Amino acid sequence: MSAEQPHSFMHSVKRMYDFAVSKMDLPTGIAELLGECRTVYQVRFQVKINGEYQVFKGWRATHSEHQLPAKGGIRFATEVNQDEVEALAALMTFKCAVVNVPFGGSKGGLCIDPRAYSREDLDMITRRFALELEKKGYLSPALNVPAPDMGTGPREMALMADIYRTLHPGDIDAAACITGKPPEMGGVEGRTEATGRGVQYAMQEFFRHSEDIAAASLSPGLTGKRVVVQGLGNVGYHAAKFLEEEDGCLIIGIIERDGGLWSEKGLNVESVFAYLQEHGGVKGYPDAEYVADGNSLLEADCDILVPAALESQIHEGNAEKIKANLIVEAANGPVTAEADEILRQRGKIIIPDMYANAGGVTVSYFEWTKNLAHMQFGKMGRRFMQSRAESAVDALEQVMGDKFPEKLRQGFEKEADELNLVRSGLEDTMCEAYQEIREIWHSRDDVPDLRTAAYILAIGRVAHYYTEYAL
Ligand code: NAD
Repeated sequence: MSAEQPHSFMHSVKRMYDFAVSKMDLPTGIAELLGECRTVYQVRFQVKINGEYQVFKGWRATHSEHQLPAKGGIRFATEVNQDEVEALAALMTFKCAVVNVPFGGSKGGLCIDPRAYSREDLDMITRRFALELEKKGYLSPALNVPAPDMGTGPREMALMADIYRTLHPGDIDAAACITGKPPEMGGVEGRTEATGRGVQYAMQEFFRHSEDIAAASLSPGLTGKRVVVQGLGNVGYHAAKFLEEEDGCLIIGIIERDGGLWSEKGLNVESVFAYLQEHGGVKGYPDAEYVADGNSLLEADCDILVPAALESQIHEGNAEKIKANLIVEAANGPVTAEADEILRQRGKIIIPDMYANAGGVTVSYFEWTKNLAHMQFGKMGRRFMQSRAESAVDALEQVMGDKFPEKLRQGFEKEADELNLVRSGLEDTMCEAYQEIREIWHSRDDVPDLRTAAYILAIGRVAHYYTEYAL
């Protein structure tokens, strides 16, 4: 890896990785291999904007290719740097392994503030970056499949897919070169909200285990829990919305770039999101108290803190002041290694990023397989399954001589369409992974938390592949 900087995101990932490795009996070379990225590609390219050339710098790092393609998002942000991209690529390898998705780990980033460009200019920059990635095999259905991350979404994915298709008109699997596309461009239903949905499923599963709830000194059930969310972007918005609307949580605090909002009675997430879209910030939102120093709300009195924006938000400087008993890392790396230790000593429970935000890559896997199968999920069996369910309900009603309650009938007859199949596959994946992680946490005295357990599970799986099957 590039030179390690103290307290950088890379520093945290390395420390957490080394801590987990110290509890494992890995062949020496394997621990070393997985401690660094395999390849890092740095590119500079020019785009003519308003008659003048502007130069952009980007990276794509691949951490492991034990399974191909390697998978991971592309971030558009001004803070992007090589160190960050490498740390994120390593996390991707472990994230895929934790949820048992058969991909290697990769990540990309472009140093840019996407809000500073017109739609047309951003489209041109995105296409140009895609071209540079494709030239080196970093945009390919078989080798390296990007996805959205901070600052990118379905539109950027569609543009990149278009570049690949243009360069490879004969590749029947071209659509699988990238995930997170809009459904009409070969995307899968439910991908946009998948990471936030996965965060919700992770929290629901946590609250199914009384031992874990007790470890966090929380009362049972998500209903009524007071939640603070940092970042109302793709991940934070969907997680907050689902927690509010479906689980009865009170979203009492939302932190954005320009400050925070506070409401003891609970914020209406949809309404705050609409305001944020329209005004570019939360300041002036009418139905809540505005807090200029938004990050002070990280330390506010609440049950659950969901950092869903940037890395290193909870650090040595504020970890002692965090009041939430449960921290759910919807973002990648929001807690530094130093803060992690402080929080652990204070009895706080962290649901780690590697698992908590794995919903995105899980549904990306569904999208990739859909693209390779060239058929929408549920397309062939949907009507058949539905008529069979209807017949079963009719037959039961005849035998019982009574009508099924409407709610029960709806459950039976729920359509096996793509969105429902994606949701159920995601829920199943998140539940199973949590159970595997907590099993390691609770069964070993030397594993102090869910993060170390998740690392041990992931590293073990990847190491097994290298020791058993790789050349
Ligand atoms: P996004 O760009 O859609 O949203 C980020 C949000 O955070 C924006 O609303 C932005 O205004 C806000 N923000 C930025 N700086 C902030 C600050 N200093 N304080 C408070 N808010 C701030 O990005 P996203 O896709 O939601 O990604 C968020 C995090 O989740 C990142 O760490 C990303 O790596 C991780 N993640 C995303 C996905 C995905 O599918 N998009 C998957 C896994 C992990």
